[in-house]
Amino acid sequence: MSGKEFASSADLAAKEQTLELLADGVYALTAEGDPNVGAIEGADFLVCFEALATPVAARQWLSRLREHTGKPVRYLVLSHYHAVRVLGASAFGADVIVTHENTRALIAERGQQDWESEYGRMPRLFRDPASIPGLTWPTATFTDAFTIDLGGGRGDLVLRYCGPGHTEGDIVAWLPAQKILFAGDLVEAQAALYTGDAFHCDWVSGTLNAVAALGAETLVGGRGAVARGADACAAAIAQTRHFLDVMLTEVSAVLARGGTVREAYSAAHAALAPRYGRWPIFEHCMPFNVSRLWDELSGVERPQIWTAQRDREVWDELQG
Ligand SMILES: [Zn+2]
Repeated sequence: MSGKEFASSADLAAKEQTLELLADGVYALTAEGDPNVGAIEGADFLVCFEALATPVAARQWLSRLREHTGKPVRYLVLSHYHAVRVLGASAFGADVIVTHENTRALIAERGQQDWESEYGRMPRLFRDPASIPGLTWPTATFTDAFTIDLGGGRGDLVLRYCGPGHTEGDIVAWLPAQKILFAGDLVEAQAALYTGDAFHCDWVSGTLNAVAALGAETLVGGRGAVARGADACAAAIAQTRHFLDVMLTEVSAVLARGGTVREAYSAAHAALAPRYGRWPIFEHCMPFNVSRLWDELSGVERPQIWTAQRDREVWDELQG
């Protein structure tokens, strides 16, 4: 055994949270590589982006936000179905919970298994897990775009589907007037990518191209620091693309020469570690990433469902 603890189960040190004002009425809370969240003020309501893993974790974020605005939460936007993004939803008291249509289907298909899987992988993020009332269900879904008029001359917030990527149903939240993008897990800035439920070939091409084409000048990725300025936004997208490109190159080569998934894991790990090995969740993600990419390149169209048991089996096979 390599002695590596399972996933992020040994990552128990609290991260410092930083609330940043990105523009008038536009907020981001980052946390040293833990999942990011955000909020956008309308004239007389709030839109919150992402819900964290539990209502107790979400209430801590809301209490920070309440130092700046007391407006009620009309919309809670969830970028995708992963448990650490959605299970805190009940704390927001939102009138409308918005996701992509595919996300609703994924919650129905695998939401319960994903909850158990993510709890096992990242227990620290589940502050008071007993506070979770159950799966989070959207009350509004869309396929291509969903526009929220913020009112009072504040312009629109446009929710967009850019194609399959980190999951089958990721959406981004875009403020065209301020050129601010909440990218969810489609883009990471100085954090490793999780691709265990991904569509790598789509993500690295059409989907990232669509994200880049928005022309963001401020970008909040799924994890990591806020990218400020067009160059930093382009760099975050380029980092995401490079990470995917390297995985695709390494895993394809091992598959083509008739190697094993364990060899593919070793090759991808060796190629990525010099640049990304010290970034948050790198070691946690790599076995799951390579397992899914191996499947994808072998013709398994949709990601297999991760369960707490399958997590351990893949971990032991690749990381053990
Ligand atoms: Zn995710």
